[in-house]
Amino acid sequence: MIVDCHTHVWRLEHWSQELLAEAGRARSESFNLDAPWEAHWQAMQAVDKAIVLGLRAQHVGLVVPNDYVVDYVRQHTDKLVGFASIDPNEPGYLDELHRTIEELNMSGVKLGPIYQNCHPMDSRMQPIYQYCQQKKLPILIHQGTTFSRKAPLKFSYPLLLEDVALAYPDLVMVIAHLGHPWIDETLVLIRKQPNFYSDVSALCYRPWQFYNGLVLASEYGVMHKLLFGSDFPFTTPQELIKALSSINQVPGNSGLARLSEEHLTALIERDTLGLLGLG
Ligand SMILES: [Zn+2]
Repeated sequence: MIVDCHTHVWRLEHWSQELLAEAGRARSESFNLDAPWEAHWQAMQAVDKAIVLGLRAQHVGLVVPNDYVVDYVRQHTDKLVGFASIDPNEPGYLDELHRTIEELNMSGVKLGPIYQNCHPMDSRMQPIYQYCQQKKLPILIHQGTTFSRKAPLKFSYPLLLEDVALAYPDLVMVIAHLGHPWIDETLVLIRKQPNFYSDVSALCYRPWQFYNGLVLASEYGVMHKLLFGSDFPFTTPQELIKALSSINQVPGNSGLARLSEEHLTALIERDTLGLLGLG
């Protein structure tokens, strides 16, 4: 069983012109950022289950309606799991949280403090954590850098989540992208917080960073807390499987550490839905 825990659907009209231009500079010109339902469904043929994330961040200019995610997920309930995105800057954001979970039956929440210009321990965030802890809803949080000029790096440091973990000890959280570039910090945090995990999405196109991150995860003994995720449309699950399966080409014959094939297979086949309480 392969679970892709980090995927997106959106249309270009959900993006501001400014953010689209920034994304264009961050990626190659031929890259197609549009991620309509059909393209997502095609890419997900490589996996058995996929978590589809909403994304609402007025501050940087990316607002995907939660209904756009739900209307798609409902067509494939045996395979897709929908996470709502809640932006604490929006008036009525807690109503939206209740609506997406209680009326639309979404299964978790996506947050992005760097995109939402909000400290992870901001008072507006607290009721979201409280609600998710009580309802046993996992949170996938983008804690790490991004290309958007307006997005404040100061809110994206993974160690800011330590206070969240201590204040909400039963909250289940997945830190996206190994918290890049603060991978060491992410690994030591998930090592000591039993309900914290991290996904390996959107790193495979930086093979040196990806290889080093996985070696560090092995040395800290936290490979079992890393989750398979592609960040579609930025990469596909197929590309990630290929990158993980060939990661030992990075050290080659240099004598540098090699990743255990057993650990890599286990990462690809991780029972992510079970770990997040969604199985
Ligand atoms: Zn993402």
